[in-house]
This record gives sequence, C-alpha cells and structure tokens, in this order.
Amino acid sequence: MNCIFCAIVAREADASVVHEDEAVLAFLDIRPFTPGHLLVIPKRHAAGLGTLDPEDAGAMFRVACTIGAALRTAPDVDGVNLLQADGVAAGQEVFHAHLHVIPRREGDGFGLRGPLPSMPPRAALDRTAAGIRALL
Ligand code: AMP
Ligand code: ZN
Repeated sequence: MNCIFCAIVAREADASVVHEDEAVLAFLDIRPFTPGHLLVIPKRHAAGLGTLDPEDAGAMFRVACTIGAALRTAPDVDGVNLLQADGVAAGQEVFHAHLHVIPRREGDGFGLRGPLPSMPPRAALDRTAAGIRALL
C-alpha cells in the first residue's frame, strides 16, 4: 500500500511532529491553511470513518482536543477549527483518516464556503433524523 501518512508513521517520509503516542501521531500540514495547521492521525491505517477503529478515533479526537486547547493559549490564536474530510465529495485527498486542527486568527480569511443555510420546518428535520437513525 502506498500511503504517505503510513510512510510518515514509519519515519520513511519527513514530518514536523508535534505529538506522538502509541496510537496517534500529530504533525504539521505541509500546505497549511493557517500558521500552525496540523493533522492528527491514527498510526494504524484506516482510509476513513467506515473502517476507523473506534479506539483509534477516540485517541485521535482526544489528542486533537488537547492540541486545540493548547493552541488556544497562544497569544495570537483566537479560535480553532477541527475538521475531518471523509470521501472525495467532502474534499478528502489523503485516504488515511486524519483530523485537521486549524488555529484561527481574526481576519485570517479561512472558512467553509457554502450557500446560506435555510431553516427547514421541524417535520422536515424529524424526517431527516428518522432517515439517519435508520442508517445507524
Ligand atoms: P484532506 O483533504 O482532508 O485529505 O487533507 C489532506 C491534507 O494532507 C492536506 O491538507 C495536505 O496539505 C496534507 N498533506 C499531504 N501530504 C502531506 C505530507 N507529506 N505531510 C504533511 N501534510 C500532508
Ligand atoms: Zn496509511
């Protein structure tokens, strides 16, 4: 399997590592959206949410929270976004699950773009909720 993030875990590719433990690695994104933008990945390969081990998912989120909270203590950081892209339609480019941790500063210009959301009637929300419950 040719996976750049597995290569980083194996130290066969370069990375600027911020945190490592038995389950998780965190390193700077090579094309940062904002200064300090980093990725938290499970060491064990999983392409996405459908195959991600729940323990690894928990470990990844815990580390992202710890790093995000630490970033919030930096004097120039006003906020943090956590973001996971799952699937091509969601913008996933590297098919080894990862959580982006994106430090935000007022006026940095980063943001999710999309049409202004409408507010559907409760009955429509309930139908959608029922459809999702059926998938769980
Ligand atoms: P995504 O679109 O969520 O799949 O994001 C993949 C991210 O991985 C992008 O932000 C890339 O800049 C980043 N990336 C790709 N290759 C590397 C690498 N070798 N080291 C660090 N980040 C990388
Ligand atoms: Zn991998």
